[in-house]
Amino acid sequence: MECHDEGKKSPKPHAVCIPFPSQGHINPMLKLSILLHSKGFHITFVNSEYNHKRLLKSKTPFFVDNNFQDFIFETIPDGLPLIDADVTQHIPSLCLSTKENCLTPFRELLIKINNNNSSPVTCIIFDGIMTFALLAAQEIGVPSVSFRTTNACSFMCNKHLPLLIEKRILPLKDESDITNGYLDTVIDFIPSMKNLRLREFASQIRTTNINDKMLNFVMGETERASKASAIIFHTFDSLEFDVLSDLSLICPPLYTIGPLQLLTNQLQEKTLKLLRANLWKEDEDCVNWLNSKEEKSVVYVNFGSITVLTKEQLVEFAWGLASSKKNFFWVIRSDAVIGDDSIILPSEFVEETKERGLISRWCCQEQVLQHSSIGAFLTHCGWNSIMESIGSGVPMICWPFFADQHINCRYACDEWGVGMEIDKNVKRDEVEKTIREMMDGDKGKEVKKKASEWKKLAEEATGIEGSSSLKLDKLVKDVLLSNY
Ligand code: UDP
Repeated sequence: MECHDEGKKSPKPHAVCIPFPSQGHINPMLKLSILLHSKGFHITFVNSEYNHKRLLKSKTPFFVDNNFQDFIFETIPDGLPLIDADVTQHIPSLCLSTKENCLTPFRELLIKINNNNSSPVTCIIFDGIMTFALLAAQEIGVPSVSFRTTNACSFMCNKHLPLLIEKRILPLKDESDITNGYLDTVIDFIPSMKNLRLREFASQIRTTNINDKMLNFVMGETERASKASAIIFHTFDSLEFDVLSDLSLICPPLYTIGPLQLLTNQLQEKTLKLLRANLWKEDEDCVNWLNSKEEKSVVYVNFGSITVLTKEQLVEFAWGLASSKKNFFWVIRSDAVIGDDSIILPSEFVEETKERGLISRWCCQEQVLQHSSIGAFLTHCGWNSIMESIGSGVPMICWPFFADQHINCRYACDEWGVGMEIDKNVKRDEVEKTIREMMDGDKGKEVKKKASEWKKLAEEATGIEGSSSLKLDKLVKDVLLSNY
């Protein structure tokens, strides 16, 4: 459905979209905003000052040269000291800081927009962990929608954290519970989620302190999301059908809209080819290298925008990749290795793999995943990465790092059958074995088959009459235009 101006006099509906200020949250919010823009909304997209500077610095075309009418960028401070660097901010500090510091500037921004703009704010879409925006929406009397950039399973787990505390399963009794097998405790009382283990819950539960700030942040943001007019999940119905059904009994109206890249890919405007939000400068040459490789022959390795590795882990991955003898494209951010600015890979590794390996600092992941040369994706299981991989039919080798990535990995491997996990304590032999199994083995065949099946279902969900397309229209009609 689309909303159009009734003649020139009536202003467009105006959605203010505010992502959590990190790459994995900006990307899906930008896509959702573009979709709403294509349906006739005026958009104000609110970045943190730090990130907006970086988006301009990395010459991200959409931000540098935005020629979309009625698509405006605004910034507010995130409350952390402004630094002149291209590094991922400390995520727990950013969570606590946005919670403490962003309401006032956000409120002022809304007042400024409403005073100056010919189209007043008619709805607010805020990131699922930026619930301060709820209050601001209530103050100006517009509907507010919580956009969970993660999946429904992780939300369901978060929703039950208070029960885990009530049952005295949390907090941990002792630090040693992290390694002594306690995290393997089976949790069998979460609706529609079978054989769950404690280790699959958000990593913020790994604390012995019931007052731990991040544990309470996760619980508080989850609880407050339920006060929104609606909740959007970046997922699709057939992927999480049971959990979504159970969640719908205890939440405000739920809208499942994903994979977002399959929806935005359908938009025709030329400028959409430039629809990216890179906080790091993108290596565009990698596509030429991929073009030179055979179909499905390359292992793509990328651990997203937050994960950091120790030097030992980096070296284990490197030798695992080398011994697999497969082609690989490995993206290692400039701030990805703990305690070192310059990434030092063993020179023997670089020499041995120079014919079949490419290393780069940042790429357009969506484009890479859609490239015919990609045979598998070694990923940290960030939810965007999983949705992008499912939407491209690429099977995954999973190495979850933190937050919701453990449950994402569990579902990718066990429920959807599109992944194979490698141990947290990464060893080169396991990396080599898993890559070989994925690329050439029987288990790999099964996983690839599942990956193509899920790709089809993702395409169905985002087709004209698909569940995600219909939910987007319904969201617009029932919620976003309810005050218009
Ligand atoms: N991404 C990218 N290029 C890279 C690495 C990541 O474009 O080299 C994008 C990726 O496509 C995804 C986002 O950054 O949209 C990362 O989000 P995800 O949820 O996968 O992980 P996070 O970075 O939040 O841990």
